[in-house]
Amino acid sequence: MASHTDDDADGTEAGGTRRAEPTAGAIHLEELTKQFDTDDGVERVFEDVDVHIEPGSFVTLLGRSGSGKSTILKLVSGVLKPTSGEIRFEPDDVTIGYVFQSPRLLPWNTCLENIEFVHEHNPAYSDETGREYLDLVDLSEHYNKYPSQLSGGQRQRVGIARALSIDPDILLMDEPFSNLDEITAEELRAELLSIWQQLNKTIFFVTHDIDEAIELSDRILMLGDGQIYADLDVPLERPRSIDSEEFLSFRQQAIDTFHSV
Ligand code: ADP
Ligand code: MG
Repeated sequence: MASHTDDDADGTEAGGTRRAEPTAGAIHLEELTKQFDTDDGVERVFEDVDVHIEPGSFVTLLGRSGSGKSTILKLVSGVLKPTSGEIRFEPDDVTIGYVFQSPRLLPWNTCLENIEFVHEHNPAYSDETGREYLDLVDLSEHYNKYPSQLSGGQRQRVGIARALSIDPDILLMDEPFSNLDEITAEELRAELLSIWQQLNKTIFFVTHDIDEAIELSDRILMLGDGQIYADLDVPLERPRSIDSEEFLSFRQQAIDTFHSV
């Protein structure tokens, strides 16, 4: 069974202890269909979605608002159950971390206590681990600050540190930078890439922003009209320069594909 950080700030669940060698998980979505029963009848969000995500890869799900991106992440995390189809992981006991659009920090807890909170049932946790992950997101000066004493970008850094602190094999990120100003978002994207390159994690990232998807990902899945209608490998070397000819040419191709549905 996969473990996951829960949808609610007060219901987060700690994963395993830190392993000697970091591991990354594969995700397999097989003929995945999700519908919701609403007052107006059945709403089918998507149908027969097949996606296979390689361990250690950075894959982005791109789609307009309401296309079902968050629903897919919630299915992967186990918060929601599919109407039909299957989700498998390799290894099958993967640990999953979740970063939300807003970091959902407990306001009465400091940064360090917000991380400690998800390790309530983890005897191997110590403040040293919490500090290690706050250091990783450049918050060494802020261990004992409360969320209200931090900027929006710093609060989101705590959310990322908290998700990473359970040493997940898979990190799910649902529009994590869309509430931030563009300069801060850009800083966090660069840091996320650096962290991804240091720690061997599979990242399944959701956004509605094509440029963000191209800047970050190995691969972009486009979701719309109830299906994954495009699956593009991003053929750009890292680090990526957003005004290089290759970037602009791929961007045009991605935009054309995005608007084809
Ligand atoms: P996105 O994240 O791409 O904006 P969502 O996955 O949040 O889209 O939602 C996709 C569709 O599913 C929307 O039409 C939304 O109204 C519907 N939906 C999502 N969650 C529920 C729910 N719990 N009950 C009913 N409909 C839902
Ligand atoms: Mg969403």
